[in-house]
Amino acid sequence: MKQLTFKNGDKLDAIGLGTWKSEKGEVTKAVKIALNNGYKHIDCAAVYGNEAEVGQAFSEVFSEGKVKREDVWVTSKLWNNAHKKEDVIPALKQTLKDLQLDYLDLYLMHWPVAFKPEVEGFPESADDYFSLDEVPLSETWGAMLEAKKKGLVKHIGVSNFSIPKLKELMADTDHAPEMNQVELHPYLQQDELLEFCSKNEIHVTGYSPLGSGDRPDGMKADDEPSLLENPTINKIAKKHGASPGQILIKWSEQRGTAVIPKSTNENRIKENLQSAGYQLDEEDLKEIADLDRHFRYVTGKFFEMDGNSYKNIYDD
Ligand code: NDP
Repeated sequence: MKQLTFKNGDKLDAIGLGTWKSEKGEVTKAVKIALNNGYKHIDCAAVYGNEAEVGQAFSEVFSEGKVKREDVWVTSKLWNNAHKKEDVIPALKQTLKDLQLDYLDLYLMHWPVAFKPEVEGFPESADDYFSLDEVPLSETWGAMLEAKKKGLVKHIGVSNFSIPKLKELMADTDHAPEMNQVELHPYLQQDELLEFCSKNEIHVTGYSPLGSGDRPDGMKADDEPSLLENPTINKIAKKHGASPGQILIKWSEQRGTAVIPKSTNENRIKENLQSAGYQLDEEDLKEIADLDRHFRYVTGKFFEMDGNSYKNIYDD
């Protein structure tokens, strides 16, 4: 499997396990299956509401001794209600406590959006938001940098950042984000963003590589096409004797990004990691390139409210 190399030499396995919507009763088992079957990269977030159950898996697997903490890359994300500088490290410490870890490999600013601290989950009114003038990205970033200096996290990055948002942040810091985690799949290929990130030595992780399964209504786009049922993806899968999911995961890995398919099903967890064993040829890549339609499964519209400043969060 490909690995992404960071400036200090640290390496990240390109294929990891996602944990959004992994139910509390299932996620401990899923993470244990993943770690015991070769995954070395787990993607978490405070807002997924299941970090304590993921932490239970880490504790059990690491204490068994077959897999060591230092061989696994753990990513988590700062939720939008903890963007003020005094709130960042307490939020990170809660995540570390829940995950039963004493450091993270990567901590991401989940969205370029700041909520008031008392908001749990998602806001109900425009008053629940700070504007980015009140709590600028650089304020949150400064506290994340502090966390890195303290050794609580090894690397820091962002998520859901467009090129203008990356430029805004980079203009205010001499420590550029090391990662940008964004939605990425054949219907949303984001060539321009990938090129910008590559030029600026920012790694990219693609989320929702399989089309994100079921999501809360507010996150659903109208007229949603299925990636897993796409005829081109299915034709290429048949040609390689792979599943459609494996072709989608391989496509991301082959493009040089990390990719974090979510599953709580034992067979699919294993199948997804085995995607690394296939190789897409020039013809496959050309056919997949033609599928781009700038389509987002995670629409971002849930941040837009009359009176707040978060219209068109993706700047597209
Ligand atoms: P995915 O695109 O990974 O799709 C997950 C869905 O696909 C689930 O319903 C899963 O069901 C199913 N599935 C998994 N493997 C296969 C397979 N081989 N064949 C067919 N179906 C399969 O969706 P996510 O939106 O969850 O994205 C992945 C991860 O990215 C998240 O879990 C999260 O960690 C991260 N993410 C980050 C975001 C951010 O804002 N930074 C936003 C969204 C996601 P089952 O479990 O039953 O296998």
